[in-house]
Amino acid sequence: MANNTLSENAAMFGKHTFNNAVMKERLPKEVYDSLMKTLKEGHDLDDSLAETVANAMKEWAIENGATHYCHWFQPMTGATAEKHDAFIAFDKEGNLIEKFSGSQLSQGEPDASSFPSGGMRSTFEARGYTAWDPSTPAFLMKGSEGTTLCIPSVFISYHGEALDEKTPLLRSARALSKSAVAMLRLLGNTKVTRVTTYLGAEQEYFLIDRNLYEQRPDLIMTGRTLLGTLPPRNQQLEDHYFGSIPDRVLEFMQELEQELYLLGVPAKTRHNEVAPHQFEIAPIHEETPLAADHNLLVMEMLRRVAERKGLALLIHEKPFAGINGNGKHNNWSMGADVGGNLLDPGETPESNLSFLVFLVATLKGVHKRAAVLRAAIANPGNDHRLGANEAPPAIISVFLGYQLNAILDAIESGDIKKVSEKQFIDLDISHIPTLNKDNTDRNRTSPFAFTGNKFEFRAVPSSMPIAIPNMALNTIMAEAIDEMREAIESEMKSGKDLQAAVFAVLRKEIKATKPIRFEGDGYSEAWHKEAKKRGLPNNKNLPEAMKAWKDKSVREAFVKYGVLTEEEIESRYNVRLERYVKAIDIEAKTLAMMIRTMVLPAAIRYQGEIAESYSKLLQASKGIKLSASAKAKQAKQLETFANGIGELIAKTEALEKLIEGLHHTKGGVEGHAKYCAETLMPAMTAVREVADELEGHLDKSLYPMPNYLELLFMH
Ligand code: ADP
Ligand code: MG
Repeated sequence: MANNTLSENAAMFGKHTFNNAVMKERLPKEVYDSLMKTLKEGHDLDDSLAETVANAMKEWAIENGATHYCHWFQPMTGATAEKHDAFIAFDKEGNLIEKFSGSQLSQGEPDASSFPSGGMRSTFEARGYTAWDPSTPAFLMKGSEGTTLCIPSVFISYHGEALDEKTPLLRSARALSKSAVAMLRLLGNTKVTRVTTYLGAEQEYFLIDRNLYEQRPDLIMTGRTLLGTLPPRNQQLEDHYFGSIPDRVLEFMQELEQELYLLGVPAKTRHNEVAPHQFEIAPIHEETPLAADHNLLVMEMLRRVAERKGLALLIHEKPFAGINGNGKHNNWSMGADVGGNLLDPGETPESNLSFLVFLVATLKGVHKRAAVLRAAIANPGNDHRLGANEAPPAIISVFLGYQLNAILDAIESGDIKKVSEKQFIDLDISHIPTLNKDNTDRNRTSPFAFTGNKFEFRAVPSSMPIAIPNMALNTIMAEAIDEMREAIESEMKSGKDLQAAVFAVLRKEIKATKPIRFEGDGYSEAWHKEAKKRGLPNNKNLPEAMKAWKDKSVREAFVKYGVLTEEEIESRYNVRLERYVKAIDIEAKTLAMMIRTMVLPAAIRYQGEIAESYSKLLQASKGIKLSASAKAKQAKQLETFANGIGELIAKTEALEKLIEGLHHTKGGVEGHAKYCAETLMPAMTAVREVADELEGHLDKSLYPMPNYLELLFMH
């Protein structure tokens, strides 16, 4: 029997993608070879190639039921966009044909004015172009209305400015590769030509019953509950994590997996998460640009399959107050075309040298640009999540684990002067190859943790396209690697041999980056104080975090590495702040609306009931003997409830005034964002506190929407 017999599911893998195997089968050999070369070297696609590829792609798509095609891209809206066109056209004789040309494959022209550009359009033309990005295979999206051929694309302006998230990611991948190759060459690896990053994204999400979801305007409008209190039994019991997956969800997961397999997404693990109704899906890591696109497809298919199964997907960072939020763990490593994973401690001293260099370079990058990483993971939802329950705090630090710390300490003190197994053993620090996951994966509160042969960036928001944090990560790494290489070269110029030069630089950098290393409890008050002393940024909300992009040296670095131009940085900065303001404004208005039209009417109705029953009681009490407390307590209940309503009205009026005030706030989009974070959000919290308190005293049958108990426990 063949030893690679595949399950029915696995045999479907990639069936809906125009992948390398399909291209190899359908393209003339020279076209296939030159396409592969283009892909590997990252050139633009040759026009003559595009024509042949387009034709083969069209034939394949039509054979598989497609009638339309679209360029599928990531504008700066946080989602994907597509513009559909039918294949049909008229030939010269006026006959209907199905046509798809090379130029239609390699270039589309969506109306750029309907996507955010952060002000770039005032200086440039409104036109935008999508261009095929062959790093992700074209795929078929099956919908109820038929099948569409989706062509993964970048989205750029007439003058070549990036209007999307993918373009800067691809540029950053190129920058990192260049820096890492130069470093490896210096370290003696003469064969390396390309370094890639690998990314495995663990995606968390909640599923709830769709009928219940539809009764909550807050979930529909904002993706999170703006009201609601926890039932007494919540996740404290911790019986959900890895618990049995309920049948309905299991069915969902199986269907999801099939869909993802068809699209060539290697979905690997599925399990329950900490909170009730929370789950996680993780595909096997792939090259970052592909993995970033695949994560967008994962999010899209989660939503679609949930809908099909009568469920609603909650992918917001904090759908429920007081319960774990959703994150996206960004497992990240660098790999060379010759030499394997650069973050793998390896078995041999030579590779340990490069391991130590790339490890320390990572410390250097994260230390120098912690504020950039924090900005790269800022979105409205993460303002609620970071620092709460399971999520890491807003302070960026690096966790290495006991062994690596011991090794770095020994290098710093001069006890290790070169890489030899003997030295590690003599020092009684079991040498690096014995490093294992158990030793490195313990600290769940660290935002950036070494886990065996990769770093896990855990502060990434669940709903964000991961192109953004990875673009930042690649760029800060390219910078750190270059700075270290230059320092090593300069040590060598002054006469040191390679090992001595490397160790001199390692020692210096280990010392300099010490503040970013933290092994303790990221939640503790003590850490917040300590981090401040160490000079680490602690930016609590998005407007604070985004200030990193105003830093001159940050801008210069991104420009220098060809990842973002000054205009692109400015545009992104504006778009992120604008989207934040919009999100908070919608949340505040939705909350006020829910209080006015749902909570207050219910509370007032109930107040009427208890008032009436109290006055009836007083009437009846003429003939009966009531205990002193019977009367007093019921009077008190009415009083408390009525006062609660009064307070809720007052707090809601205050919120409504502040909502009005947003538009009169000065300081442009920055002023608006600051106002949202520092004025509107606290006003919303104040309203919520009173409303949640009232909920706890209200007749359950009168509460005008499904409560936390029903959403999280009762189906
Ligand atoms: P967990 O973190 O839940 O223990 P794993 O460590 O097995 O799970 O993997 C989590 C994710 O990390 C998966 O997507 C996996 O493919 C990815 N991963 C594993 N090795 C690497 C690597 N070298 N580079 C990038 N991602 C990796
Ligand atoms: Mg993990």
